Amino acid sequence: MKKALALFSLIILVTSAYPQQSSTSATNVDMSYFVTHTRAELIQKLVDLPLGIQPSDPSDVILQKIETYLVAFIPQPEYTDDEYAKEANIQALKSIKQGGYGIGSVLVDQNGKIIFAAHNSQIQKNRSDLHAEMTLLTKFEQSHKSHKYMNMYVYKPGLTVFSSAEPCPMCFIRISTAGCDTKYCTPGPEDGMVTRISCLPPSWKEMAMKQKVELGDCSPIMQKLSHLLFYSYLLDNRGPKQE
Ligand SMILES: [Zn+2]
Repeated sequence: MKKALALFSLIILVTSAYPQQSSTSATNVDMSYFVTHTRAELIQKLVDLPLGIQPSDPSDVILQKIETYLVAFIPQPEYTDDEYAKEANIQALKSIKQGGYGIGSVLVDQNGKIIFAAHNSQIQKNRSDLHAEMTLLTKFEQSHKSHKYMNMYVYKPGLTVFSSAEPCPMCFIRISTAGCDTKYCTPGPEDGMVTRISCLPPSWKEMAMKQKVELGDCSPIMQKLSHLLFYSYLLDNRGPKQE
């Protein structure tokens, strides 16, 4: 009995040390889907979606078909984060149409309302820091709207940054520093930081784990689209060229 009590106490101790940490492994799509290395792989995955994309479609036609589908998409009620996934993906597509990388992000308040949206602007603005989440938080902090949500540079509890893709190390630390919760639509097995929190220096890890950090509850089609929009740079080999 004493042993059982000790074990129970240990479980309580461990779980209370990380009260907000949620599982980051739940996805409705096989994890292998979220690795795409070539244009041919990207095209095949796009053709496999119910968007009417043909292998011979030029890039602008592919993007138009994605936009038509996304705008008409009705968030599926059984997936509680689908409406955020849809808006984040629409933001991602905006960036792609401007010649940028396909990642979008929205800021959600404690009532579940989207109060700000942004997309990656690295290529458009020639700024290495302008990932979607960084752009979102910088623009928000510069707006009058932010005042009621913030104490100095740390946000009051209850705001969530919902990103189309799992945040990178830079963005994840920025979100944690601001005091926001983190959610995302598609996991980033090759680039995401959320699943690598244990690699952070102890103080940063402790700070990051004070907030909720989790994969969003999104439909398979939104998860797939988030991933394919992210890797859409393979359509025209956008981005830094190898010498
Ligand atoms: Zn980032």
